[in-house]
Amino acid sequence: MKGVGPKRAGYFNDLGIHCLKDLVEYYPRTYEDRSIIKKINELESGEKATVRGVITNIEARKFRNNLHIIKAVISDGTGYMNAVWFNQQYYYGKLREGSTYWFFGRVERKILMEMSNPAFSDDYDNFAVIVPIYSKNKGLNQNTIRNAIKDALSETEECFNEIMPDWIMAGYGLLEYGKSVRNIHFPKSNDLFYKARERLVFQEFFLLQTALLNIRHRTRGLEANGNKFTDFYKGNMYINGLGFPLTGAQQRVINEIRGDLSSGKVMRRLVQGDVGSGKTAVAAAAIADACGNGFQAAFMAPTEILARQHYESLGNDFARLGYNAVYLSGGVKTTERDAVIESIKNGGADIIIGTHALIQKGVGFKRLGLVITDEQHRFGVNQREALAGKGDTPHSLVLTATPIPRTLALILYGDLDISIIDEMPPGRKKIETYAVDEGKRRRVLDFAERRMKEGSQVYVVCPRIEEDEALDMMSAESIYEELQERFSGFKVDLLHGRMKPSEKDSRMQLFYEGVTNMLVSTTVIEVGVNVPNATLMIIENAERFGLAQLHQLRGRVGRGSGQSYCIMINRSSAEIPRKRMKIMEKSTDGFYISEQDLVLRGPGEFFGTRQHGLPEFRIANIYTDMDILKKAQKAAIRIISEDPCLLSKDNANIMKEIELRFENFKTI
Ligand code: ADP
Ligand code: MG
Repeated sequence: MKGVGPKRAGYFNDLGIHCLKDLVEYYPRTYEDRSIIKKINELESGEKATVRGVITNIEARKFRNNLHIIKAVISDGTGYMNAVWFNQQYYYGKLREGSTYWFFGRVERKILMEMSNPAFSDDYDNFAVIVPIYSKNKGLNQNTIRNAIKDALSETEECFNEIMPDWIMAGYGLLEYGKSVRNIHFPKSNDLFYKARERLVFQEFFLLQTALLNIRHRTRGLEANGNKFTDFYKGNMYINGLGFPLTGAQQRVINEIRGDLSSGKVMRRLVQGDVGSGKTAVAAAAIADACGNGFQAAFMAPTEILARQHYESLGNDFARLGYNAVYLSGGVKTTERDAVIESIKNGGADIIIGTHALIQKGVGFKRLGLVITDEQHRFGVNQREALAGKGDTPHSLVLTATPIPRTLALILYGDLDISIIDEMPPGRKKIETYAVDEGKRRRVLDFAERRMKEGSQVYVVCPRIEEDEALDMMSAESIYEELQERFSGFKVDLLHGRMKPSEKDSRMQLFYEGVTNMLVSTTVIEVGVNVPNATLMIIENAERFGLAQLHQLRGRVGRGSGQSYCIMINRSSAEIPRKRMKIMEKSTDGFYISEQDLVLRGPGEFFGTRQHGLPEFRIANIYTDMDILKKAQKAAIRIISEDPCLLSKDNANIMKEIELRFENFKTI
């Protein structure tokens, strides 16, 4: 492209732009509306506005510290304002006293109203428009990006091939693709902007939904009939043997699950419940129901330790019901493993609990009727589908403690039904939570020492593994060294994500068994292990974590009968981190906390969409675009039911686009 040499191309590459298609699909972050012209005497301090006026006086000055200032006085007949440019001396020659211009910028009340660094032009048609603002990096300014996109839009017809078949275009009233990309960058009118945006959001959701449905089709078929479970005797036996009554929410969710199991359709249900809400008991009741109807059930957890914990805590309960539970993970020795795999195949094993070793080749089930995946967000869509693909259309249940907003759940899980356990078992002690600043850290450590002397265990969580000079953050490694010295009479251990899984598991196991008194760790402990004797969590640089994540972390303590504590060390004095700490101190409600997180941080950061194995959305907003999502989902369901692999001529371009967008799509 003209004006883009190798160096600039590099800066574009850094933004993920490698070709013209990438460029035209680099949508604006926001817009500036310069189309509303205000009179000078109507301007309000702090607002951004367009003013049309004549320059009555202009001067340029250079100060000793290399500061250049251009100052102009502007009149529009209703009053005077100043326009000031800093270090933009080249504008001086472009602005003439006595000439009229349009100016756009933020104004502030000084002696006169003052507009700083305004954009200006004498060409109304090109100036008083809605102007796109892009996310940029150091090497590129707004004008460079804007001009490159303008050029790309004017010359590359082949980027604008329509991929949507006519029935979708007409049925959903979509604006053509070419017109949409043009108007998303340079809207000709408000109306066209909204139509353009709607089309592009629709497309983004549609492609994702279509891709997910196609994967499902390839792994196990779409509208499969399910095995009908009608006998709930064993599930009830399990529930009655629990030693505590179910909460109302647990009972309701079990009823919802049983409704699915007995419906004749394949169950696909997500159970969402805060940490400690008792998802395991719900899952185990469903397992007992599956076995009670003559099927095997598989329970997959994301880590070895979590899987083993489920196996140890549930194995005896199932044995009492007369069922044989086996354990399978990468860590199981070959001879034992072969025997386990054989029992899964010949039906000797009724219940299989394990890690993703369950989905490996060579593991075949005799009569798999139910698949449960725990802490779902740690698994990719493909892993979940792979396990479901093992049986003869087994029912599937997904457990998660992440309070995923409904919209996101809909995208992630397609037509999964959702159950929510929104009630905690009674008698839980509130985890006492405090935010302190660095100055109190010594006292916090003294407190930790007292807890350990009394026999309690302590988690210390840090945001990073290694020290980084540039970032003022404590690292797990340096804290581990410090605390090992500080608490020489105790066993202090370290755990982080760069360790081998087996290493992580064995260290976690030592903590679980109570051998380790204090565990210094990164967020790898976030997911589900139950150590009732751990009653204190110290979180270093708590301001670096998302609220939802802090909540998840805090859920690791407060699992026994004693009082538990969470102390967050906040090294920022800024206002927002303080507010966030306050929310943690006050609330224990995961849904409320993640909602507040969204309010304070915005959805982009909250998601870390990568955690869900999903691509980032370029334009769709999963909070506000729910309506479009529903339409796109409907269209995707129809297209996949008519042409599941998108082989027809009409749909070929959709397939091409999906392959471009989602890496590894073909290999799933
Ligand atoms: P999570 O939803 O985080 O997976 P768990 O299933 O591990 O929670 O349950 C946490 C703890 O609460 C377990 O020790 C479990 O035995 C206990 N529990 C579950 N349901 C109830 C209940 N209805 N009443 C009392 N305790 C319960
Ligand atoms: Mg759990």
